[in-house]
Amino acid sequence: MDRFTKIVASIGPSCETADVLRKMIQTGVNVCRLNFSHDTGETQGHKIDLIRKISADLKKPVAIMIDLQGPKHRIGNFLTEEKYPLVPGQVFTFDSNPAPGNSKRVNLPDTDVLKSLKPGERILLNDGKIEMQVLSATPSQVQATVIRGTEIWSRRGFNLPDTDVETSVLTDKDKADLEYALTKRPDWVAISFVQRPEDIAEVRDFITQRVSYPVKIMAKIERRNAVERLNEIASAADGIMIARGDLAVELPFEQVPAISRHIIRECRKLNRPVIMATQMLATMVNSEFPTRAEISDVANTCYLRADAAMTSEETTIGSNPINVIETMNKILTYSDDDAVANPYDWLRVENVPENDWSRSVASMAFLNKAAAIIVFARDTNTATQISCRRSDIPIIAVCDDMMIANQLCLSRGVIPMYEPDLFGPRDAFNSARLAGIMSGNLVIVDEDKISLRKLD
Ligand code: PEP
Repeated sequence: MDRFTKIVASIGPSCETADVLRKMIQTGVNVCRLNFSHDTGETQGHKIDLIRKISADLKKPVAIMIDLQGPKHRIGNFLTEEKYPLVPGQVFTFDSNPAPGNSKRVNLPDTDVLKSLKPGERILLNDGKIEMQVLSATPSQVQATVIRGTEIWSRRGFNLPDTDVETSVLTDKDKADLEYALTKRPDWVAISFVQRPEDIAEVRDFITQRVSYPVKIMAKIERRNAVERLNEIASAADGIMIARGDLAVELPFEQVPAISRHIIRECRKLNRPVIMATQMLATMVNSEFPTRAEISDVANTCYLRADAAMTSEETTIGSNPINVIETMNKILTYSDDDAVANPYDWLRVENVPENDWSRSVASMAFLNKAAAIIVFARDTNTATQISCRRSDIPIIAVCDDMMIANQLCLSRGVIPMYEPDLFGPRDAFNSARLAGIMSGNLVIVDEDKISLRKLD
């Protein structure tokens, strides 16, 4: 039986050849994430073509998720590439002057940021290693006191945990990248630095003005204001990524596990798949083995009933990306089996009414010890909603549209099968047998009709 918890693999230089990608997909990758912060255009296009070909050869649905860079803020250049000293307590200036920086000032190319900052707000540079606090702000110059940090240099990224930046979630680069990516029919588009539900509406408008196929939108939660408006953002989007990298800079890092747990619960209530991302097996960039803490982190993704665990640098630039997927697969498979053998609180899904139809399907399957729930899936909604009840019973989603099958690769416990011929006669038994289930009760969900049948 397939794993319940899915694997999202970030694809980069270490795993772009056909052989490595094929092996990773055979080993267990369900979703390939292509990060447009690095490669764009044709380079990503070739990777998309390659993944599609491998998926077709292996007859295994694999989702393609493109991840747009979004409004990542960076300071400008300094006079030289050297590091410039900073002294805690000193005043440092960010301004609109394009002249190279020095140890007292630097250019801030993004004028929206200069206009948005207010006295008292924090500026965190270089993954939070430098902290400053705004003293005074005008639309052309911001003065800040250095709280922490001893050196600064060119093009450092920065986060503004206290500031609502009045900027579009799609930069000009994102628009060009998305325009191109849409020609390749991605299954999912991930949006970085989402701040408000309107950001999702903006991206959806951009997409629907260009294509008519139903591409799904993944909101990356990595800003404090996105956590505060999680419910509205998750309702507007089709899925959520817990982007722990930036989240742990924007918020005190000790809060990230609690926030992750909260996000997973909210997503289950709202029927949205949710990915746990970043540094899951980070030491495997160079090491053959994960740390004990990383093993627990991956396992907890399953125990917290998230939909998927994601790899980052460990597969993009790591020394052995296939080993990373084997390792993640091993941990998730064991933890899934353990979680199924020791069911816990799946019926306690807060705020899901007892008469909710998907809850009834999950209860029926659970109480009848069903071997599987079979869904004839014309769209992703029915299978995703049952998946969010987390009944720990496999959901076989028979699809007559390849994109629906690909998109469902992300949903926990869903085994998507592209079988238009079986969809036609609605042959639940053959679907179950194709998924390796030889006997037992089946709960069949077919266009609002729910039935229970026995497979002998
Ligand atoms: C993150 O910050 O955790 C993340 C997934 O975003 P990115 O890798 O795009 O910076």
